[in-house]
Amino acid sequence: MRTITRRMLMTGTAGIVAAALMPRWLHASVQMGGWQVDTLSDGNLVLPADFIFGPAEDADLAPILDRHGLTGAAQLTPPCNLTLLRGNGRVVLFDAGSGPGFQPSAGTLPDAMAALGVTPGEVTDVVFTHGHPDHLWGVLDDFDEPLFHGARHYMGAGELDYWRDPETVETIGAARQAFAVGAARRLDALDGIIETFDDGDEVVPGVQAVLTPGHTPGHMSFAVAGAMILGDAIGNHHMAFEAPALPSGADQDMDLGIETRLALFDRIIADDMALIGFHLPAGGIGRAERAGGAYRFVPAG
Ligand SMILES: [Zn+2]
Repeated sequence: MRTITRRMLMTGTAGIVAAALMPRWLHASVQMGGWQVDTLSDGNLVLPADFIFGPAEDADLAPILDRHGLTGAAQLTPPCNLTLLRGNGRVVLFDAGSGPGFQPSAGTLPDAMAALGVTPGEVTDVVFTHGHPDHLWGVLDDFDEPLFHGARHYMGAGELDYWRDPETVETIGAARQAFAVGAARRLDALDGIIETFDDGDEVVPGVQAVLTPGHTPGHMSFAVAGAMILGDAIGNHHMAFEAPALPSGADQDMDLGIETRLALFDRIIADDMALIGFHLPAGGIGRAERAGGAYRFVPAG
């Protein structure tokens, strides 16, 4: 296991040139149960590969890295896909993206929305999966006012408590200290605006919260119209699908992250659900298929 420092996470700039060549508005679009579902690209992150792979054994990882052309890769450039539901008189956005303050390769959500013809003021509901920078920091505009100024904002009660707790900056560990400071600042600005919900609640009509902890303490996924909006509970299409029981350094509680991931796959397969993943490729909408004793990601369309 290698240690990732905060500096490595916050200055991941070497991939910017490659990122600039990626299709910026790549998104997926499907109709589900009365909703028009689009994913919106917020660009991509640039992470040290060890941030995810560090805790797993090399022997377990090697075949997976080989299959995905990642052998020896120092960096990963996971895409960021936000989910937008339109229908039933609502415009529901899951997570708010990175904004301009996290990584230079991310924060393209406003352009992706414009390309779809949706303005921030039209969003009626912003629903957070969790409080990490690439999900939360885009919630404020340049004046530190809510960007989605007409929207109700919701976060799971346990997740909100965690990021608002002044102890979190001390307990979260050096690699994520800036995450805690940044989250607290945004949530302070949303004080009196943000509402909470619990496991099983219907956050928006037809959208049910599913507690999926491990990646963060109060991470939430959402069941809607035969699909599961995963957030980061299944956080990539390589290790998380092909060896979901391996520890991921992306999870703040790695054991709980494994338990959650295995339970989510069980439910998705048993209920034949589509899935939408924040960091999955091809816009993030697809299905999980059983493969080789685990799973593989099959993009929609
Ligand atoms: Zn996350």
